Amino acid sequence: MPYISLNPATNKILKTYTSWDTHRLAESLEKSRLTQEVWRQSSFEQRATLMHRAANLLLEKRDELALLITQEMGKPIKEARSEVEKCAVGCEYYAIHAAHFLQDEPIESDAGESYVSYPPLGTVLAIMPWNFPLWQVFRFAAPALMAGNAGVLKHASNVPQCALAIENIFRESGFPDGLFTTLMIDVDLVNDVIASHSVHAVTLTGSEPAGRKVAAAAGLHLKKCVLELGGSDAFVVLHDADIEYASQVAAASRFLNCGQSCIAAKRFILVPEIADEFVALFKQKVSALKTGDPMDESTQVGPMARLDLRDEMHRQITDSIAQGAEPVIGCKPLEGDGAFYAPSILDHVTAKTRAYHEELFGPAAIIIRAQDEMDALHIANDTKFGLGSSLWSKDTTRAEKLSRELHAGCTFINGMVKSDPRLPFGGIKASGFGRELSYHGIREFVNAKTVWIK
Ligand code: NAP
Repeated sequence: MPYISLNPATNKILKTYTSWDTHRLAESLEKSRLTQEVWRQSSFEQRATLMHRAANLLLEKRDELALLITQEMGKPIKEARSEVEKCAVGCEYYAIHAAHFLQDEPIESDAGESYVSYPPLGTVLAIMPWNFPLWQVFRFAAPALMAGNAGVLKHASNVPQCALAIENIFRESGFPDGLFTTLMIDVDLVNDVIASHSVHAVTLTGSEPAGRKVAAAAGLHLKKCVLELGGSDAFVVLHDADIEYASQVAAASRFLNCGQSCIAAKRFILVPEIADEFVALFKQKVSALKTGDPMDESTQVGPMARLDLRDEMHRQITDSIAQGAEPVIGCKPLEGDGAFYAPSILDHVTAKTRAYHEELFGPAAIIIRAQDEMDALHIANDTKFGLGSSLWSKDTTRAEKLSRELHAGCTFINGMVKSDPRLPFGGIKASGFGRELSYHGIREFVNAKTVWIK
């Protein structure tokens, strides 16, 4: 199967690439293994010099990289530039902090001296999605390389130009050839990569079905595995919330990246006292969003990344309407060749509808009306996912107490769920396991090794 780079705003093919055969793949994996054996001996200082260079190069090439992102997956150009800048911040963060995060930790025991050290695992396979085609990769690669690992990337098949551009950033920054390699392979070959003796661990950011398959293969071959999967984040609005502000953030959180973010607020759970007012304000904000050409500086919502994804989300919405949900705004594809979908709100979503149970990965918000506060918390947890969540109330002390009842990898109180290199990121339940970012992230692909000296 060739890799096809296609502009979802126009449905026009930009470039095609032939995918690799098994021989080319085996050669690359072997090269990665050999390169890592040398790299693991390098000092944190040497690694940091190169990672700072990668950060600078990202900033130098910001506009060129942003253009690639927008052309391949449709993100509004302004958001694409911010994504590149965020990658540079991630590289800087680990260039500065990796040595501290991975320094030996003395522990008192019956030994004369004992401590934990953190040597790298080896080569890590990263299977990545298209929605933040640069950030998802750098979020993995910056800590992994700083820890002394090598990385091999199986990127989503619709963003091959971004995938190759990332490899170039590391090469041009001076990282050894073979330390970070983009594998141009079909998804069918992923199991072979996981099985390879040259690969020591795997991380996947993507959908729950892909996560289950990759975790099974990693289990079969006893390789360490981190999974960052889907989410259907609750946005719980309590009676004493600042409704105007909450509705503003709700629109930003749900419609950023055309709604294609794992940590977008997806289920707006409202208590009766504020439900109608919130829906009215939210509708105002969503109606005002500017949809259109992602290359236009003023566009806020571009196309979805692929036509098939748009059509699948439309089926989820029409099925939910047939099951009793009520469209407030949008809920239909926009005319034209691109994968555009009108920013949408679906109200009165109940447990009888698909939208209640499934992730809607596009520009569609669902409103679930709770009977009271306890019911709202119950609904928030009544999902197979457990990635992010947010709680809205002016009484932050109480909200903090209630946040302990939310089953998710994070709860933001009166704020939009976002990733930040300083804070650990990841989920529970069907949203996966393991953590990225902060010192938790860099410790996923190292061996916590005990050293005991008499
Ligand atoms: P996807 O279909 O799972 O694809 C993600 C990656 O996995 C792609 O590289 C894909 O390759 C690969 N893949 C698909 N099936 C596979 C299999 N059976 N074995 C091995 N690899 C496989 O997900 P998507 O639709 O692109 O992304 C959207 C999903 O990702 C959403 O559910 C979203 O919530 C989740 N996501 C989670 C996070 C997080 O941090 N938790 C972040 C972003 C997105 P091909 O492209 O070649 O199929």
